[in-house]
Amino acid sequence: MSKGFVLVDEPLIEYVIDQADGREYRAGEYVFASARDIAQIRLRVFDAIKRGEPNIICAACHTPAYPRKHLDTGRFHFVHVSEDSDKDCPYNEKRRRLDTGRIDSMRYNGQKEGPDHKLVKSLLRSSVDVDPDFDPQLTREEKNWYGATDEKKWRRPDIAAVRKSDAGNSLKIAFEIQLSSTYLKVIAARREFYLKENALLFWIFKDASGTDPRQYQDDLFYNNNSNLFVVDEETLRLSREQGKLVFRCCYYEPVLECVSVTDVWRERLVGFDELTTDICNQRVYWYDYKGEKARLLETAGKVAWEREEDKLRERYVEFWIKFHNGECEDPEREYRQIRNNLSNHDILIPERQDREIARFTQMVLSAKAGEGVLTGYKTLLEVANHSYIHGKQFLWHFGRVLQHYGNWEKLLAQDRDAERKKKSRGKDHESWTKKGMTIKRGIDGNSIEFRQNRRYDKLFFFLFPEISIPSANK
Ligand SMILES: [Zn+2]
Repeated sequence: MSKGFVLVDEPLIEYVIDQADGREYRAGEYVFASARDIAQIRLRVFDAIKRGEPNIICAACHTPAYPRKHLDTGRFHFVHVSEDSDKDCPYNEKRRRLDTGRIDSMRYNGQKEGPDHKLVKSLLRSSVDVDPDFDPQLTREEKNWYGATDEKKWRRPDIAAVRKSDAGNSLKIAFEIQLSSTYLKVIAARREFYLKENALLFWIFKDASGTDPRQYQDDLFYNNNSNLFVVDEETLRLSREQGKLVFRCCYYEPVLECVSVTDVWRERLVGFDELTTDICNQRVYWYDYKGEKARLLETAGKVAWEREEDKLRERYVEFWIKFHNGECEDPEREYRQIRNNLSNHDILIPERQDREIARFTQMVLSAKAGEGVLTGYKTLLEVANHSYIHGKQFLWHFGRVLQHYGNWEKLLAQDRDAERKKKSRGKDHESWTKKGMTIKRGIDGNSIEFRQNRRYDKLFFFLFPEISIPSANK
């Protein structure tokens, strides 16, 4: 007995509303220390009925209910004061497996009797009333809204209003105040009803502080483009000052961090005239979360792709340096890996590494470095001279890189030095200025001698994204 009286295992009444504070309680939340405590509550209920005061009511049928000791178990359960209620209460229908949806609907309506709900409703009503875009004749509180196609179907929104829109059309709005998110089925049914009515269901919250918006996942918040609207004392003051309906809009703003997108909780004051309304999806929002998120994800994808390309470029060069230095443990396997990675980026290179791709790589990397890379030759001039004889097919690529990195001048300077030395020894010298012209003429004139191997163009522009792809053939 020291544990007191707890709820029976399968109570008929699962929730009650204490009208004194307007809140709903699970019956199991009550624990009575003694039979006297139970009797006291019972007395309170019957006194309230006599005096017509706020009472404890069944959350489903909204008639008074009181706790009663359960004789068999020494526990307690809530029972309706009126025996008629026992018959008509939706909880009874549930017990007979008739209808369960009605309980949610009734519980939802039950919260409308609480002081919080009444307060928000009056703040909202006053805010709507100062906005001249709302037709004052058509603003109504808790009046039945009958379906246009089926009059037997109706809803009773907290506030119904009609607003002039920019196009001269009018927008029918049903404002519903939402204090908790426990009635998902009710919400979904309401959305459908107003969609058929070509009207907008507009949810208003009491506050968003201390609200974890994730608890609204998959319902109100996310369906509403991650925007929620609050009406409070401050917004009412601003509505009055500005002569238009003002809300506190709380929303998620997606933010790009490196390659991932995270949501940041934001809040700002907005006027109704700044909102986007979307009846088809029953959405109203100030911040386009979904649009912004899609844009950022696209950017994040691009950033990730570019990073991967950067890494692959590095690995390509690393491979050839290791290969040149004889440091590869298994050159065939390592080359195959690079080849597979490149093919993921739509770049095809020969199945096995051969002299041709080695030559191409050596020439372009040397041209970029301004000295011999992947070769025994040290100076740029040595590499250029060797390439002029053995790497003719890649001179176009070689020249592009030289020019881009300003190494053409370096080559000419080294060439002038060599010319001086040769001439002092009485030897002939063909200058690189002249060779450059010969190469250009040869390539432009499609001479067989200077026919270019352009099989590596994709690889080339991948390795040198800073060198733009020529628009024409040249
Ligand atoms: Zn009931």
